[in-house]
Amino acid sequence: MIPELASYVMSVLPPDFLARFQQICPPALLDTALASFDQPKAVHFRVNLLKAQSAVVLAQLSRSGLNCRPVDWLQDCGIPAFSCEAAQRELLTRHPLAETGEIYIQGLSSMLAPLLLQPAHSDWILDLAAAPGGKTILLADMMQNQGEISAVEPVTSRFHRLRANLQRCGVTNTRTYLKDGRAVGSLKPAAFDRVLLDAPCSSESRFRSAEPDSMAHWSLRKVAETAHKQKRLLLSAFDALKPGGMLIYCTCAYSPEENELVVAHLLHKRPAALLPISLPLANQSAGITGWQGKTLPESLQLTCRIWPDQDYDGFYLARLSKPLT
Ligand code: SAM
Repeated sequence: MIPELASYVMSVLPPDFLARFQQICPPALLDTALASFDQPKAVHFRVNLLKAQSAVVLAQLSRSGLNCRPVDWLQDCGIPAFSCEAAQRELLTRHPLAETGEIYIQGLSSMLAPLLLQPAHSDWILDLAAAPGGKTILLADMMQNQGEISAVEPVTSRFHRLRANLQRCGVTNTRTYLKDGRAVGSLKPAAFDRVLLDAPCSSESRFRSAEPDSMAHWSLRKVAETAHKQKRLLLSAFDALKPGGMLIYCTCAYSPEENELVVAHLLHKRPAALLPISLPLANQSAGITGWQGKTLPESLQLTCRIWPDQDYDGFYLARLSKPLT
């Protein structure tokens, strides 16, 4: 990284956050990751196959002056994801196709959790923290509106936004519930084939050097409070999962307290097993197995940290299963 950029980025990030980030980010990825807090990011979207076809959408976007590149590896996985330069963000986000739900603006990291959950058409899926619905809509798309999704969101304004987004995008296999996710495990024990918990978090991956508000409310105390809630949500998510089912836990935070330590808590309390995650990305590392003098289970190496660059936002993913007996 250019030395002036490095010192500028380091001067605007909260000092405690920066020190921890430097401690856990692999050295080979650190410069790019730090620079990404300052540099404009490419904008990504996927074609919503519930409402549109890629060829038709691409022709329309091209007529509007948008240059879209396919994200090859996601396309190979069946997700029609595309990338546009940062300078075209406004044009893309205000495009009529985004308003009608034929395309959905969505970061690439955000597409990974539905991809790893691998929903089958006949599954009953629980999306335990669902608004505004980006991942629910991708799951519904992958399921071709078959099976059933239960989407839970406790914040009224966000719940209504979730419902509006689902409707706009042509999702018909999803029921929405205005509910606290912490209650779901005891209300619906061992009910769901697959569960997604995209947990409320400190949103550290949204920090931007040009937007002081994005990090103004961050503190170690807030991280600890959030982690407490995440632990309860993850226990609830696991309790709602059928034996033999699969669960994805993810956050857009870097703090180990919100990631590996939450999963370690689940492993201590329930008979959960971690499953490997295989993604063809250079900007990833294995989950950490120790933090601030505390040793964590070795199996946490199977969890995955995505480090930010021009295309990806920071993300944490854990894939878990529940034993049959
Ligand atoms: N999955 C969403 C998507 O892809 O569009 C984003 C989810 S966002 C990271 C986390 C969500 O969890 C927020 O909408 C937040 O309001 C919600 N949330 C907060 N507390 C919750 C709780 N106790 N139970 C369930 N959801 C909660």
